[in-house]
Amino acid sequence: MPAQNQPAPARPRPVLRPVPLSPTLAVNEAIARKRREGMRVLPLGFGEAGIPIHPALARELAAATERGGYGPVAGSPALRAAAAGYWSRRGLPTDPAFVVAGPGSKPLLFGLLMALGGDVAVPAPSWVSYAAQSALVGTEPVRIATPPGEGGVPNPSLLADAAVRARAAGRPLRAVIVTLPDNPTGTLASEGTVRRVCEVAREHDLVIVSDQIYADLLHDPLARVPSPALYAPERTVVTTALSKHLAAGGWRLGVARLPDGPFGAELRASLLGIASEIWSSPPAPMQHAAAYAFAEPPELLEHVDRSRRLHAAIANAVADRFAAAGARVTRPQAAFYVYPDLGPLRGALREAHGVRTCPELTGLLLERYGVGVLPGSAFGEPEDALRVRVAPSLLYGENDEQRLTALAAPDPATVPWIASSLDRLSETLAALTVNAASPDLAPAAAL
Ligand code: PLP
Repeated sequence: MPAQNQPAPARPRPVLRPVPLSPTLAVNEAIARKRREGMRVLPLGFGEAGIPIHPALARELAAATERGGYGPVAGSPALRAAAAGYWSRRGLPTDPAFVVAGPGSKPLLFGLLMALGGDVAVPAPSWVSYAAQSALVGTEPVRIATPPGEGGVPNPSLLADAAVRARAAGRPLRAVIVTLPDNPTGTLASEGTVRRVCEVAREHDLVIVSDQIYADLLHDPLARVPSPALYAPERTVVTTALSKHLAAGGWRLGVARLPDGPFGAELRASLLGIASEIWSSPPAPMQHAAAYAFAEPPELLEHVDRSRRLHAAIANAVADRFAAAGARVTRPQAAFYVYPDLGPLRGALREAHGVRTCPELTGLLLERYGVGVLPGSAFGEPEDALRVRVAPSLLYGENDEQRLTALAAPDPATVPWIASSLDRLSETLAALTVNAASPDLAPAAAL
């Protein structure tokens, strides 16, 4: 009998499968924690569009709150027809029967990877969730470097080599994911590169998953996304959502366009099976609002256009600040991301702060200077690559009034609260490379 006051023997605990929080959501929580501790934080980590919901879109949602039923797993006919129209206007004629809607494009991508059921090539760097989702569904993400300056697509010859190696090893690649335009780099791959990726995909029988969630946020309004669905329609799935160009990420509504034909029909059946077991159907009121959004009424097009100009102005201003501080920066071409390489400052960073790896750099930026960015390692880069993803869209304002002012501003970088955040970024970057012995930028003031 155990002696009195002795602790009871520990019971065996269930063994869990550890799944870390997605780095983008984790940085958001880390920033919130620093704020609760009283630190004034520059929130440059989370990929949220930072634009108010357009009132007309909000009205459509409000008009549909009584829709309480589940509805079809693939989404309502009205939404699928509207999404088909959206793609058809972009040179991708689409049969609504091959459109599947879901609660965001993230779960759709997860369902697609599960349905495809084989190893998947992902660009390095690429959006945090592709590799994480592939691992979750029990397949292997194979990271393949992107061509210089062209984020979002694997280098085609490296992709071909990887496909040959995988086949020889008895685990052929099943798919390749591309992001057009790209997160984290904010760049758009060229048509030539996309065509070569399509050729490799054909040669090695790979399905192409083309994530085009930022397609409407190309900074150049005349530029077009070279979708692989144009060059390899028989094997390309395209995904998009309301999250970025309409800043409705919290509404959770995405759509996938599957290839027309027998393969697409088979993939659709599996995807719907998975959807039926996980989310049943996309949220009904959101579907109503999304049908309106994908029909692209002029007031929404104008709103997206203004958002695009704001994103372009601030992403470029941030790129300028990093370049002025000595970082290597590829000009952003889309969305609200900048992906500077602080490699040229490596010696100074080591000397001043003992920083050797990117997580050390981003840790220092947040803990000491209150600047939240994501390390390139979250996107599949080696830890010693000093590349960081900067998402400046949460600088547009702390409330909708400020954000609307930023949206309307002819020169948004001069809007007072944005200008002061940009200046603080420059001061931080300057302080980063100042020797620790010399006067340093005061750590972010507690408010
Ligand atoms: N794809 C990319 C490249 C993204 O950056 C994101 C969000 O950050 C998503 C997909 C997921 O978007 P959602 O699930 O909101 O549609």
